[in-house]
Amino acid sequence: MKCPFCGAGDTQVIDSRVNEEGNSIRRRRKCTGCDKRFTTYETAELHMPQVVKTNGTREEFNREKLRLSFSRALHKRPVPTEYVERALDRISQKLLSLGEREIPARTLGESVMHELKLMDKVAYIRFASVYRSFSDVDDFNDVIRDLDKQTKRRIDNS
Ligand SMILES: [Zn+2]
Repeated sequence: MKCPFCGAGDTQVIDSRVNEEGNSIRRRRKCTGCDKRFTTYETAELHMPQVVKTNGTREEFNREKLRLSFSRALHKRPVPTEYVERALDRISQKLLSLGEREIPARTLGESVMHELKLMDKVAYIRFASVYRSFSDVDDFNDVIRDLDKQTKRRIDNS
């Protein structure tokens, strides 16, 4: 991106915002040469970045899967479902505004952690304690499912 004032090729993005329809992105930029600020609009179709898992495989961003992570972490916690929907919206917006083709799965996991932290401490700890030893949301979903099974078995045997 060239600076319209001095023509320098190096500009810094100060702020990125996706419009409500999700099809255009507005960036505030600062020229590192002359320090002037300007705004650019990118109207190209925005796509959700692919998620690169720790084993190197790529997959589509999956809102359902993310919702499942939230509901597992928030199991029996007094958190309204619309909070989760709003968190999912924020995460989607954030991913779109990155404008990247790919993001590491870790970025996604960290976004979930961040949202849970604001939402419910117990759910946050539940997620973080399991998630930290892995790095894919998939792993978290699997581990939590296994824990549920084990707990049930223990109760059945007692
Ligand atoms: Zn400049």
